[in-house]
Amino acid sequence: MFFRLKEKKEVHITALGGIDRVGGANCYLLETPKLRMLIDCGCALIPLSGALFEEDLTEFSYPDFSRIEKKGIDMVLLSHAHFDHIGALPMLIKKLRGQKLQIVASELTLRTIRRSFYDFYREFRQFPFETVRVYPGKPIKYGESSILPVEVPHSVPQSMGFYLEIPGKKIFYPGDFKVNDAEESKTDSFKKTISDLAQRKTDILFLDSSNIYEDGFTLSDRLVWQELERIFSETKGRIIFTTFSSHLARLKAVIQIAESQKRPVYAAGRNLIAFLKAGEIRGWKRFNSHNRFESRVLILTTGCEAEAESGLVNAVFGEAPFRLSFGDTVIISADPIPIPEIENRVREMVRRLTKITKKVYISAEAPDDFSPKAQRANIHVSGHGKKEDLLYLVRELRPKLVIPVHGDVGKRQCLANLIKKEGVETKIIETNVPFEV
Ligand SMILES: [Zn+2]
Repeated sequence: MFFRLKEKKEVHITALGGIDRVGGANCYLLETPKLRMLIDCGCALIPLSGALFEEDLTEFSYPDFSRIEKKGIDMVLLSHAHFDHIGALPMLIKKLRGQKLQIVASELTLRTIRRSFYDFYREFRQFPFETVRVYPGKPIKYGESSILPVEVPHSVPQSMGFYLEIPGKKIFYPGDFKVNDAEESKTDSFKKTISDLAQRKTDILFLDSSNIYEDGFTLSDRLVWQELERIFSETKGRIIFTTFSSHLARLKAVIQIAESQKRPVYAAGRNLIAFLKAGEIRGWKRFNSHNRFESRVLILTTGCEAEAESGLVNAVFGEAPFRLSFGDTVIISADPIPIPEIENRVREMVRRLTKITKKVYISAEAPDDFSPKAQRANIHVSGHGKKEDLLYLVRELRPKLVIPVHGDVGKRQCLANLIKKEGVETKIIETNVPFEV
């Protein structure tokens, strides 16, 4: 059933997915009498087994679109290029069956969508969706409403929060964010934008609870780059490096380190290559079997979460794209996503890697029971803010209400308790239950 909004100032916010877990099918419906929009349209991969190399044991989880199938929506705002924020877009367009729709996102996010959903784009070219490229600080108008894109530091470039001014309400959806970018100038411009927005009397602030149990600010990725530079210079043979394929700033930094040490760089893995191309990252070649005898190369590959069919998992089983040898150093520049099935398969991959290569570096934050033969180093920081990052936004913007998102109910409640101490109201909302503001 659909709600009819009559009052000009009435706004309904409904989580269609993703609110109750990290990495879920993030999707929020915002309805006013004159505007219906989705904010993010993600898809979640739910691992059903912790076994390595079992490709069929992953399930996709999508937002529940039943509320919008008939009435449609005017636009979908996509905050950044992570799959848990864009992955359900093809399904959304299919469900809307040709209804008009604007897709609003940064240039990199739109390029990633085109590359990731290439087959879909060919098939559905006739559908009347329109893409709208947005730039930080340049608002777009829709009737009486205005949408201001705010660039936020995160682990994929061109991540945008959206500051919405709709009749009667000011809402800020920062998406996934932290305060400290690897580039100081980006941290400064983020802080400047937030202090400008502080003048506007925000009504509602969405806030990501992923890292709410962690004190302090999330550190800058620059510290990771320094540690990687040290490891690279101490390593003589081949380096096999994996991180999240969307982590383009880190991949770019690693390519530059390799270049400065005269290491040829190769990339292996479909998703990784799609991101490197979408991000226009240069300085690498596609790995092929002729490269396998070169001794001082850097091979960038997929598999930091031990995904089935990823480059590193295939290599562990002696399959293409490259063969591992006893002289290799493997660097896993990521933390396993804290889901038991994923931790189990990464643990098993690390255990096997330590037996067939010279050295395996894992994140200092990896679970304690990972193989003691792996070397721990500070080779990963999160893209999500910790307690102080979250408090920073609350203290600057002084919103009337905070809606915790992106975490199980324990995390969201913990964030709500922290915010209440600041004298700010909070609201825990549930999937598919409209919240009227
Ligand atoms: Zn993200």
